[in-house]
Amino acid sequence: MADTRPLPPIRPGAALGLLGGGQLGRMFTLAARNLGFRVHALDPGHDCPAGQVADVEIRAAYNDVYAAQALARGVDVVTVEFENIPAETLEAVATLRPMHPGASVLHTVQHRLREKRFLFQHGFPVTPFREINRESDLREAAEALGFPSVLKTAAFGYDGKGQRKLKEAADIAPAFAALGGQQGILEAWVPFELECSVVCARSSSGESSVWPVAENDHRNHILDTTVFPARIPAEVAQRAQTTALAIAETLGVVGMLTVEFFLKPGGELLVNELAPRPHNSGHATIDACVTSQFEQQVRAVCGLPLGDTALLRPAAMANLLGDLWPADGQPAWERLLAHRDVKLHLYGKTEARPGRKMGHLTALADTPEAALAKVLAAREALRG
Ligand code: AMP
Repeated sequence: MADTRPLPPIRPGAALGLLGGGQLGRMFTLAARNLGFRVHALDPGHDCPAGQVADVEIRAAYNDVYAAQALARGVDVVTVEFENIPAETLEAVATLRPMHPGASVLHTVQHRLREKRFLFQHGFPVTPFREINRESDLREAAEALGFPSVLKTAAFGYDGKGQRKLKEAADIAPAFAALGGQQGILEAWVPFELECSVVCARSSSGESSVWPVAENDHRNHILDTTVFPARIPAEVAQRAQTTALAIAETLGVVGMLTVEFFLKPGGELLVNELAPRPHNSGHATIDACVTSQFEQQVRAVCGLPLGDTALLRPAAMANLLGDLWPADGQPAWERLLAHRDVKLHLYGKTEARPGRKMGHLTALADTPEAALAKVLAAREALRG
């Protein structure tokens, strides 16, 4: 009979392996180091955000199975900050060390069609969708779902990359051509009242925890601001949290899961996307909650007790994109830092490109509106 006893927890002093070295990995690493862990990070880039603060930085492509195995051999458990890691790499790591989330969870969420089918088959509410392999599929799907609708690449999409809105029949041919031979998914357009998300955690011992609902505002498909807690009825918030925890349980996630929702007028919630990791909309948890999403990831993957997710005060987060950087150097940070109750987080990225997430701001206040006003004023000051 299989031994189902839980593994002993991985305690501070141990080394944690991280696949992906972006800002999520950097904040994970900082949280892990606060708890006395060591971190080894693997990323294809030079001088990556997590590598700058990790104990060991391995520069290798995500499909470099040998490099990933070398990472795994040096640590006690492996986690990810990025879901689009090739299956062969994940399988190779999982033969050597515990890996959270597991390869099957990543397989489901790496692909929009697999993810939507998983949700639909388990009775979770999703946007109506169709699989697109040929232009005739797109014609039929557009007829069934109506206009407007959104065509997305099934694999490797994030922050609106690989998405096109179809407004009329004339958009079908160019949108299909833009897929460039990749498989697509057509989604009905959701006339939402607002977008919100729930970050939750499940530990290897089966314990789970959830943060309050975050209210998200996107610009050009990229998250711009988050207000914490979302300004939605308590019943809706409760339903979003319960749904997120149920998805985490059904998926069998160990680690973190973020569920993004569309809230429709009338209170219906549709799941837009899953991310098996901490999320941009949870960044305010660093300054605004007893336990941040990054500390919770450490606790969850190590099988340690999960921390309290209580919100200390209403909060808001604003992203800092590369657009704010002048061509010849750094923004005038002193203008922003003069807003003394706003916290600045920068990710150590040297090259600022338009749309690239370079950092974020957080502020706490008595109300979500007041917190939002603070981060927006601070960001505006940076523009000069
Ligand atoms: P995604 O990468 O799928 O999360 O899409 C990025 C953003 O595009 C979402 O956060 C929404 O603001 C918008 N969007 C994506 N899909 C839809 C949809 N089916 N209906 C309305 N807005 C959408």
